[in-house]
Amino acid sequence: MTGLEILNQAREEKRAVLTEIEAKQILTEAGISCTDTRLAATREEAVALSEEIGYPVVLKISSVDITHKSDAGGVKVNLKNREEMEAAYDAIMTSARELYPDADIEGISVQAMADPGIEVIMGMTRDAKFGPVLMFGLGGVLVEVLGDVSFRIAPLDREDSAEMLGEIKGRKLLEGYRGQDPADIPYLEEMLLKLSHFVDNTPGIQEIDMNPVFAYKDGAAVVDARIIMSDS
Ligand code: ADP
Ligand code: MG
Repeated sequence: MTGLEILNQAREEKRAVLTEIEAKQILTEAGISCTDTRLAATREEAVALSEEIGYPVVLKISSVDITHKSDAGGVKVNLKNREEMEAAYDAIMTSARELYPDADIEGISVQAMADPGIEVIMGMTRDAKFGPVLMFGLGGVLVEVLGDVSFRIAPLDREDSAEMLGEIKGRKLLEGYRGQDPADIPYLEEMLLKLSHFVDNTPGIQEIDMNPVFAYKDGAAVVDARIIMSDS
């Protein structure tokens, strides 16, 4: 299914939440680079997909009823071979079924283990008054503890996206800190512009959450994504 078909189907079914796989497909088609993420409905399929993608891989629970996958014991990273991957597959299933006995589980997603980068977040919330509002911030502990984020109303222009990156308190972390590589700031600005363009042209989405995005010296990759549909 294309991203457009996924969105149309979700609207028809009046579904509130899209899975990570669906969200990444939609964002990829909007020109935003995401880790290649595919669905395995069985352990055998996970073996085949892991070999195709290449170890190390990451496995995650895939269910519209489980939005915080880690809380469900539903994320296992850096699985280096078939043995580790199969053990992780079983552990995720057991944990998810135990903690979310009523969840409709479609399977487990398999994706490449992304190289470490600077963790940032990007997102959108549709405000009743202002329409789509874009958000940028530093990921991980910084956003959770300090709420170090910036906002702009869509549509963004180039200056807006530069300001969004410029005005966070942790800006220095993006410029390379203690020998860490700097983030590719023009690339991140471009990602925000693409997100703005997408939400401005796509009705029916209430919220987009890309958390985390790994920012590199060259480029960036969305490692987790969530999309919430509007009620109407
Ligand atoms: P949650 O639903 O709990 O937010 P995430 O998909 O964000 O789950 O995964 C939790 C954490 O695991 C991420 O914050 C990131 O640090 C790590 N992670 C997830 N996917 C990958 C990946 N493809 N490569 C490397 N690390 C990853
Ligand atoms: Mg996440």
